[in-house]
Amino acid sequence: MSEAITEPNAQSAEPRPPSTGAGRFAPSPSGDLHIGNIRSGLLAYVRARQTGRRFLWRIEDLDRVQPGSAQSQLEVFAELGITPDEPPLVQSDRLDIYAEALSRLEGQGLVYECYCSRKDIQQAPSAPHSPPGAYPGTCRDLLEPERKRHRQRLHEQGRAPALRLRTDHAEVTVHDRLLGEITAPVDDLVLKRGDGVFAYNLIVIVDDGTSGVDEVVRGDDLATSAPRQAHLASLLELPQPAWLHVPLVVNADGRRLAKRDGAVTYQQLRALGWTPQDVYAWMGASLGFTGAQTSWACIDDMVTGVDFDCLKSSETVFVPPSGS
Ligand code: GLU
Repeated sequence: MSEAITEPNAQSAEPRPPSTGAGRFAPSPSGDLHIGNIRSGLLAYVRARQTGRRFLWRIEDLDRVQPGSAQSQLEVFAELGITPDEPPLVQSDRLDIYAEALSRLEGQGLVYECYCSRKDIQQAPSAPHSPPGAYPGTCRDLLEPERKRHRQRLHEQGRAPALRLRTDHAEVTVHDRLLGEITAPVDDLVLKRGDGVFAYNLIVIVDDGTSGVDEVVRGDDLATSAPRQAHLASLLELPQPAWLHVPLVVNADGRRLAKRDGAVTYQQLRALGWTPQDVYAWMGASLGFTGAQTSWACIDDMVTGVDFDCLKSSETVFVPPSGS
C-alpha cells in the first residue's frame, strides 16, 4: 500500500490531503497559557502520538492578540518537549480560505445579514421552540427594503451587519470519545461578525477540515460547539473530525482557571521553581494516575503513561503554589 508523504516543512494555504490524520492544539495568542490550557495541549499531543497522527499547531489570531504571545506559547511547549510537526498555521494568513467557505454557504442560500446589536438580541422575545440563548430570528426573513433601511442605519452608526447561517434549528449529535453523545440544537450562528472578523465556529472547522485534522482534542468548555462545527462541516462538505473533549482545570471556587487566580502560568510556576518534570507529575496526578505511573522524566514518558480509557472524567482543581 503506498502512502503520500507530506513534506514536514511544506506549508501551504491550500487544502491538502493528509498522508495520515492529524491532531492539533489551537491556542488563542492572548497571553501566557495557564496550566489548564497547557494540560489540554499536552493531551492533544499525547493522543496524536499514541494514534500515529501528526501534531499541528494553529495560531488563532483573529481576535484578542497579545504581541509576542504566540511565540512564547510555542516556547513553553518546546521546553516541555513538544514541537509541532509542521510550521504553525496562522489564521490571519487564511482569510481568503474563510471567505471562500462563506461564499459557498452564500451560494447555498444559507447566509443572511443581521443588523441586531447584542442588546437587541437580549431584549427580543425568543422565538417559539427555539433553544435558550438562540438568536431569535429578527433579521432572518426581512424584505429587501427593510434590509436597505437597516444597512443605512448601521452605516450611520459606523457599524456593518453581521452574517448569520440560516438553519432550521435541528438538533445535531456528535460522538465524543470521552463524553459520549453530545447533542445540541444548531441555531442561526454568526459566520462573520459586524466588525468583519470571521467567527470562531466557521474558521475552526474550515481549518481542521483543510489541514487534515481528523481528531480534535480540546477542553470540554468547547464541547457544546462541536455539533455546530459538525453541522458546518457537513454543509461545506468537509470531513467530520472525531471529538475528544477533556475535562477542565478549575480554581478553588470551581470556576475556570484564570490568570487572576495566582501563579497559574508556566512562566510563573517556573519562577517558583517548578521544572518540566514537576509539570508532568502534576499532569499525571491531575489526570487520575498515581505513583510510579507519573514519574515521567520527559514527554515521551507521558505519551506512554497516559491511558485515555482511564482518564479522570471530573474537573481538576488547581491550587496555585504561593511565592514564599
Ligand atoms: N482558540 C480556542 C481557545 O484558545 C480553541 C479553539 C479550539 O480548540 O477549537 O480557546
